[in-house]
Amino acid sequence: MKLSINALSKTYANGVHALKDVSLTISNGMFGLLGPNGAGKSSLMRTIATLQEADQGSIFLDDLNVLKNKTEVRQLLGYLPQEFGVYPKVSAERMLDHIAQLKGIENTGERKELVGSLLENVNLSKDRKKHLGTYSGGMKQRFGIAQALIGSPKLIIVDEPTAGLDPAERNRFYNLLSQLGENTIVILSTHIVEDVSTLCSSFAIICQGEVLYAGEPDNAVNAMEGKIFSKAIDKDKLPHYQSQFKVISTQLKTGKLHIRVLQDTEPGNGFVTATPTLEDVYFSNISTRVDVNTI
Ligand code: ADP
Repeated sequence: MKLSINALSKTYANGVHALKDVSLTISNGMFGLLGPNGAGKSSLMRTIATLQEADQGSIFLDDLNVLKNKTEVRQLLGYLPQEFGVYPKVSAERMLDHIAQLKGIENTGERKELVGSLLENVNLSKDRKKHLGTYSGGMKQRFGIAQALIGSPKLIIVDEPTAGLDPAERNRFYNLLSQLGENTIVILSTHIVEDVSTLCSSFAIICQGEVLYAGEPDNAVNAMEGKIFSKAIDKDKLPHYQSQFKVISTQLKTGKLHIRVLQDTEPGNGFVTATPTLEDVYFSNISTRVDVNTI
């Protein structure tokens, strides 16, 4: 399957230009949409999920016109929104059974089997009778994935799924997500670079409604080989370094400011060559738009 997003634009009634001429091609597998808060990720996710209109542009899932054929798209879609409300007094098992019924699975036995295997899949079998209101953040996210998988969707959209999860919950969630994706398109929106480097075979960086980069994480990182240099400096010297070098990120550690700069030639001056990471790719792209070096 292929999702083709072409020149998509959206301005909200309050004048915020949330999507500016967004074009992306997304194939089967895990695709990461990476960007800071307010970049336009949810706006794009909601538009693909047929929940809001675009002003301009088109989205096609193979030959299916997504913006025009909402009902057909919804039958192929699994969606885990950012704000995932759950009914607190209903058990996971009952809720999944109910959603399966809404998605048109009428046979009780078939539903029971499906709900059982979904709960197994997301490691919630032993908690299936518990009320959703008693679930932890990680359990709610895994329940969210289970409901998104009902009906064997071909397109799965998960919006900021790891925000608010502790490291162990995040790991469990990564494992779950990475089992999907071979025969489906999974779009994962996130502001966490590690989500993309751990999970995604391709990704895009979006900022202020614009796509700044699209490609494969490995290629993006390799292209920076030999171009990232780091140095620990006194933090009041930052403005001086910023005036001389393209400082893409800063990190305060034990009183010293560790800065990373991007340039084609060795700066000398006490800098050491650093191994590039996807964070360098991310920061070098968004630092042209937003101030990432405020300390
Ligand atoms: P992200 O998901 O990357 O955090 P969003 O798509 O939620 O970004 O938001 C992009 C921009 O659009 C932000 O400036 C946000 O405040 C604005 N925005 C989002 N939804 C609405 C809305 N329904 N009405 C007006 N402005 C909105």
